[in-house]
Amino acid sequence: MSLTLTVDGPRWREHLRRTAAAHPGLVPVVKGNGYGFGLGRLARRTQWLAEQDLGHEPGAGTCDTLAVGTYDEIGEVAQRFGGSIVVLTPWRPFGTALEATDDDHLAERLVHTVGRLEDLRDLLERRPRARFVLERMTSMQRHGFTARGLWSVGEVLRAHPGARLEGVAMHFPLAHGSHTSEASRLLTDVVGAELPEGDGARTVWVSHLSDAELAGLAARWPEYRFRSRMGTGLWLGERSALSVTSTVLDVHPLERGDVFGYRGRTAPKSGHLLVVTGGTAHGIGLEAPTGDLGLRGRAATLARGGLDAVGFVRSPFSIDAKQRLFAEPPHMQASMLFLPTGARVPAVGDLLDVRVRYTATTFDRVVVT
Ligand SMILES: *Cc1c(COP(=O)(O)O)cnc(C)c1O
Repeated sequence: MSLTLTVDGPRWREHLRRTAAAHPGLVPVVKGNGYGFGLGRLARRTQWLAEQDLGHEPGAGTCDTLAVGTYDEIGEVAQRFGGSIVVLTPWRPFGTALEATDDDHLAERLVHTVGRLEDLRDLLERRPRARFVLERMTSMQRHGFTARGLWSVGEVLRAHPGARLEGVAMHFPLAHGSHTSEASRLLTDVVGAELPEGDGARTVWVSHLSDAELAGLAARWPEYRFRSRMGTGLWLGERSALSVTSTVLDVHPLERGDVFGYRGRTAPKSGHLLVVTGGTAHGIGLEAPTGDLGLRGRAATLARGGLDAVGFVRSPFSIDAKQRLFAEPPHMQASMLFLPTGARVPAVGDLLDVRVRYTATTFDRVVVT
């Protein structure tokens, strides 16, 4: 009845173990919709990973910390995972960041991300023993210190000897060639910042570096320890272990000209109307139209009598390995598909494969075998 994510448990867990084993110091990212699995489940899985024997040296810290996206997400993970929690959104002196900072029970476990000098001063006034990473601005241009900003940090930290620097963080854009030279340039700034000596000054938290890039950096900067913050590659890295299915709830034969749906459309051809689970509440949206949207493309599909020419749009639901058309835009929890005459008609209760973006889908059920 549900939009279901089915996970081949042994295969998925094997992939998680393998990925963690290959990345000493790994920091699993558990944010947003929990990559489709849910935040709570991933927090428990991170705890499980932390307890695995991955063959790393003591002090590698693999999975001793998880990363949430926002302060608001802490509540979902804090009871299910026992280690440290780094928040990827930078600390600011307002909102839920302040509530979390004021929480004495969390103080020892929380690692803040700080990207502005005034925030660092403010945080340390409120919590002189706060744990934090300093974010260095990258070509992402999202958050973080400039090189000049980092230079001033040393002075602030010397004024707060209890402050606990856990590292410098760098968030690189996805793909787009190698990040090695940018990372090296930014590391030069870290050296120049003359941060107070300690493990923190020699730890770099990175995102979106390939294994080859990481290995290259580690070889070039042997005195630094690199920690990968990873979500997609970890949780969704073994796609063959994941399948998403919807259930056929109803099947109605349609004659050309029959009226159906919220909008009283008429069927352009004979076929079947399928009502299947999965709608806007799950994040099922309209995919790109099947054809070329340009005028010329539209004229050509019109001439061919294609269904997209009458406004039918491709859906993420497949029958017999073919993506089928929405009969109308998805409803809140169900969708209507149009199946032209000639295609095999599924029965009520049959399961259909659904292509989704895991990071944008809310499943009714997640079944881990
Ligand atoms: C979301 C996020 C990640 C994880 O990204 P994936 O592409 O899911 O691995 C890493 N670092 C930062 C700063 C992020 O915001």
